[in-house]
Amino acid sequence: KKSLCWFRRDLRCVDHAALYHALKNSTQVYCVFVFDTDILANLSDQADRRIDFIWQSVRELQQALEKLGGGLIIRHGSAIGEITDLVEELGVNALYFNHDYDPDALGRDDRIKQLLQQQGVDIHTFKDQVIFEKNEVLTQSGSAYNVFTPYKNAWLKKLDASAIQAYPVDQYISSLVPQSSPIPTLAELGFEKADLKFSTGMSGANTLFENFKQRIAHYHEWRDFPSAKGPSYLSVHLRFGTISIRALVNFALTQSGPGAQTWLSELIWRDFYQMILYHYPHVVSHAFKEKYDKIKWPGTDSHFKAWCTGQTGYPLVDAAMRQLNQTGYMHNRLRMVAASFLVKDLQVDWKKGEHYFAQKLLDYDLAANNGGWQWAASTGCDSQPWFRIFNPVTQSEKFDREGDFIRKYVPELTNCDSKAIHTPWKLSPAQQQICGITIGKDYPLPIVDHAVARDITLALFNRTG
Ligand code: FAD
Repeated sequence: KKSLCWFRRDLRCVDHAALYHALKNSTQVYCVFVFDTDILANLSDQADRRIDFIWQSVRELQQALEKLGGGLIIRHGSAIGEITDLVEELGVNALYFNHDYDPDALGRDDRIKQLLQQQGVDIHTFKDQVIFEKNEVLTQSGSAYNVFTPYKNAWLKKLDASAIQAYPVDQYISSLVPQSSPIPTLAELGFEKADLKFSTGMSGANTLFENFKQRIAHYHEWRDFPSAKGPSYLSVHLRFGTISIRALVNFALTQSGPGAQTWLSELIWRDFYQMILYHYPHVVSHAFKEKYDKIKWPGTDSHFKAWCTGQTGYPLVDAAMRQLNQTGYMHNRLRMVAASFLVKDLQVDWKKGEHYFAQKLLDYDLAANNGGWQWAASTGCDSQPWFRIFNPVTQSEKFDREGDFIRKYVPELTNCDSKAIHTPWKLSPAQQQICGITIGKDYPLPIVDHAVARDITLALFNRTG
């Protein structure tokens, strides 16, 4: 039996559900990756970091498969056409791939299934990128959860060894067919090399994971401080599947203590938002709590632009946005602060911020990003209550006490001491001179007054009843 294994957001050849099943059930397995023009056409930045990340990770995957005696065919075109053509060209009887829960991907996969099944090709699809998917964790009455803590408890109750067992791909490796094709250059794909600050591929993921293993015991203490090396930085690798979620959960479970427990909780949030997207796809363009769609956000384009470029006059918010623009990453605490600021201080529609993050984040994931934005905007399923509004100064004083993170990304404020750096507009002209800065010229005055903005936002929510 001849099969084709289609790699998508699962760019690894270890512990890979679809590859394992394809190898186990076939005598010959071809592997393919498609640079999908239907997706690439939506990207506006030629130096998009994600394409560079994928490109390098695909190259590593190809080399790894070749080392195992196989290969990776690489195509550039519309995935629907490329996959159906390739199935015909190779004369395979079956197509294997892992589930993707994004609405666009679901539509694409359904279409491919339909087309190939008409031609008598078997389609085998698998859960791979989450621990529990779709209807696996439901309430007692059989409905989907919409609150995290009971979901997490049910998730933990369901967890057993089989859910996190690695797929031993190497057991059946002899079925791999050594067919590869050259990888198109970034220029041939219509892109250019990006300023990528993250290591790519399975090897990059492994290095980060090994490093995080040394720090996991402190995760709960350090994860909220952006200048500390607290989190794992594995999100982009989870996004593109260069590491297996099962391996991460497995490791977390072997550790005791609050660090590992808190980290496991974050991995469960990831499953939670994928489940929410699957069951409540209206969240893609609407508030989860639809009554909040009624809010007419009065925020201006110029405020939105100031936020995007890190010029709001609130140092922590600006440092966060500059980190995003310069690296493609933003620390979780700062994602919450920056998102809250856009919605609740600038009264800009959360969907605009969500869209900006979607363009810039290396780890952009529709489910997690939408969930995070709706959480911050208080429109989401289990979100921050609308009357709780982050104070950007207090957040700054608490989570970047010494101002180290601000200094890294807002060099204009380098000479401000650790007290003044959170509220530079309060510096007297003499103090500004000592710090070598003129506020309002070298660094902006705050574009809104937080206390005033807060009242406007509370009134907006109050009116929705
Ligand atoms: P760690 O702290 O090491 O966490 C481990 C993993 O758990 C992460 O890699 C991620 O896969 C998962 N995780 C952690 N927190 C969350 C969460 N709140 N929701 C879902 N999964 C989580 N995460 C993304 O992966 N992609 C996004 O597009 C994204 N957009 C966000 C937007 C906003 C407004 C907010 C508030 C959060 C967003 N997050 C997103 C969640 C979180 O900020 C990132 O996952 C985290 O900062 C990535 O860094 P890390 O890998 O070092 O995380």
